[in-house]
Amino acid sequence: MGGGMSTVVSRAPVGLAAPLVRVEVHLGCGLPTFALVGLPETVVRESRERVRSAILTSGYDFPSGRITVNLSPADLPKAGGRFDLPIAIGILEASGQLPRRAARGRELYGELALSGELRCTNQLLPALIAGARTEHELIVPAANDWEASWVAGPRVKLARHLREVCEALRGIAHLPGADAIAHVRALPRLDIAQVRGQFTAKRALEIAAAGAHAMLMIGPPGAGKTLLAQCLPGLLPPLDEHDALEVASLASAAGQRPGPHIERPFRSPQHTASIAAITGGSSCRPGELSLAHHGVLFLDELPEFSRNALEALREPLESGVVVVGRARRTCEYPAGFQLIAAMNPCPCGYAGDSSGRCRCTPGQRAQYRRRISGPLIDRIDMHVELAPVPVEQLMAATESELFSGPSSESSRMSVESSAAIAARVAAARRVQVARQGMLNARLGAAEIDSVCRLDRESRALIAAAIDRLGLSARAYHRVLKLARTCADLAAEPQIRRSDVSEAIGLRALDRAPRDER
Ligand SMILES: [Zn+2]
Repeated sequence: MGGGMSTVVSRAPVGLAAPLVRVEVHLGCGLPTFALVGLPETVVRESRERVRSAILTSGYDFPSGRITVNLSPADLPKAGGRFDLPIAIGILEASGQLPRRAARGRELYGELALSGELRCTNQLLPALIAGARTEHELIVPAANDWEASWVAGPRVKLARHLREVCEALRGIAHLPGADAIAHVRALPRLDIAQVRGQFTAKRALEIAAAGAHAMLMIGPPGAGKTLLAQCLPGLLPPLDEHDALEVASLASAAGQRPGPHIERPFRSPQHTASIAAITGGSSCRPGELSLAHHGVLFLDELPEFSRNALEALREPLESGVVVVGRARRTCEYPAGFQLIAAMNPCPCGYAGDSSGRCRCTPGQRAQYRRRISGPLIDRIDMHVELAPVPVEQLMAATESELFSGPSSESSRMSVESSAAIAARVAAARRVQVARQGMLNARLGAAEIDSVCRLDRESRALIAAAIDRLGLSARAYHRVLKLARTCADLAAEPQIRRSDVSEAIGLRALDRAPRDER
């Protein structure tokens, strides 16, 4: 067989940009070899076997000379089988079994089975989104119809088998297009009306939702911290189409295949999670911080997380992005999560409990709180103390019994639903965006001065608090932002004295005695 060449285009699973990859196939004379340049031997061996078998079982000849396949650019993450289809098509083109340049203007994706069938392929959505922005036709495994549905259009085609792709490229058959699926908005998993008591904490959650403020809840075990955090996504406005696509794309990039139900993410990694799992690490895949983008990152038992993990939160909390990967190849993922953290008031969890069962010394309590660094605490707008659950409720055996909701119809009526609170939250957010183009949590020092003006009464109140609590300048700015959110929830253009007072109440750690900080 003479020297044939072909180039087929695909995309690499790197970041949300999913850069183009040229799969170059060269056929030469000589002893039969099949070399894939730039991939690790295990990946090569498996891919070689699948491609060869798929070509043969599809009724084509496998060329007998030297086959060299080069993926360019070379320094790509060496992920699984997604290049099988472009490699197979490249070989058939280079050997003259498909018309020259048959695949021009197309992007091909998909892992092949030995039978020639196209398998569901991982991490595909970012590539399809990037490909859909070009003039290219995209050929996608039919098993990836969920990913294809996000970019459905006349240029997105589904194929089940290598043979179907070949027939389409020879112009003797047509591939079906992908159907757009309505991406259903899921209802919140948990309604805040189901959480009993904790009215102060519920109000704090509403304020956090309205201004997108990060919040730390401090309370004993069983106070409902996790349940309250799980309610937050249901208080936030539903995702719009653009943000939903970003959420789906990040999930796909992480190797997940979420269904068509798109909701605001709620991620709650355990404190034992590795730093790589939290940030994405060296794999160039999104970690928990990015999987929580547009949603909630809940970190229970915050002081138990490793110092590295806590430090890794700081930059994304400011910038909304996280950089993952190693020195040679890094990629950036969005990480615009809302942080909700929880901790016990002391190592045993029962400080302040009227039963007096806490035996922790002031030194032990201080050390426990010091595990969270000052710079991280500085980035958390709200710290809220949760009341210990009253003794009579504590008698109930489990948390789920405690919080399974009011039993009678009348008490259910007296508790606000997530939908009612979400309506106030949405209105308050519209006010913020109209006024300053961003939510209150994102306000910088200069903007705070212009949008959080105080009248004389409020200034006197905050001056007294600075005196009494020794508020730092940073804490002072946090109080102003929170007061602004409280006023926005009440649709008040001017911050009132009561807003400032409520805001000061949301800074529990500022009120802690100095030796406990
Ligand atoms: Zn204790």
